[in-house]
Amino acid sequence: MREIARGWRADACAIGLVPTMGALHAGHMSLVEAACRENDRVVVSVFVNPIQFGAGEDLGRYPRSPEHDLAMLRAAGVDAIYKPSVTDMYPPGSSTRVNVHGITDILEGAARPGHFEGVATVVTKLFAATSPDRAYFGQKDAQQVAVVKRLAADIDLGVEIRVCPTVREADGLALSSRNAYLDAAERQAAVCLSRALGLAAEAYGRGERNPARLQAILSEAIEAEPLARLEYAEVVDPATFAAGGSLAVLAILIGKTRLIDNHDLKLPYPG
Ligand code: AMP
Repeated sequence: MREIARGWRADACAIGLVPTMGALHAGHMSLVEAACRENDRVVVSVFVNPIQFGAGEDLGRYPRSPEHDLAMLRAAGVDAIYKPSVTDMYPPGSSTRVNVHGITDILEGAARPGHFEGVATVVTKLFAATSPDRAYFGQKDAQQVAVVKRLAADIDLGVEIRVCPTVREADGLALSSRNAYLDAAERQAAVCLSRALGLAAEAYGRGERNPARLQAILSEAIEAEPLARLEYAEVVDPATFAAGGSLAVLAILIGKTRLIDNHDLKLPYPG
């Protein structure tokens, strides 16, 4: 991969990287399309990164669809697909980990200890392998965006972090590879996430700025759904994730499936 990227750089091509864990859907493809618009060469990485999964999480059953992924990426016209193996990435003896402090201790970081260390480590390695000018991430994973922006700025990676809006189903559910775990009733119930965000955005639009009241609107909308269990509902600053900004972030459990979503309440809610 590094050799290919070196050749591209020698030809003065701008390189875009889209990191994914495969099981590609229209959300991923919106990142790929943005990368193709903005760069001369595009590489999509497909790697289910074991070190960002906690013990007891869904690493073993994470959806995989290699043929479908290949067909989607070929049709999109990407220049390279980087699919390292687990031992390529973490050979025996590998013991270095990248840690972003502070922001990784709260919310997703608190719920999933070690998750962001795994993300920061793999993103650093993907950047080293592909030397991108720009890397593309989805707003769907808002805290990941904040962690990766912090990482790129703090260790002077010279990579521009581009963030693409969340792609949603017609009823508002954010596309996610993990939606495949939901049965029909759970799939219907999952719409409570976008309903909660819509209600909070509506209240924000009417002038509600009290974080406790906005949080109450979010949690009440989740609690109204019998199949959903609230993990957290907060209104935070999008860069630091400290309390009190305008980014509403939600995590819920539906059955055994953990789903997250978010919305900047300053923006009108789509649909
Ligand atoms: P994943 O394969 O789940 O690690 O996701 C790879 C990238 O796609 C991440 O930057 C995600 O934030 C992004 N992504 C996942 N779902 C969506 C979506 N519904 N809309 C936009 N981006 C997404």
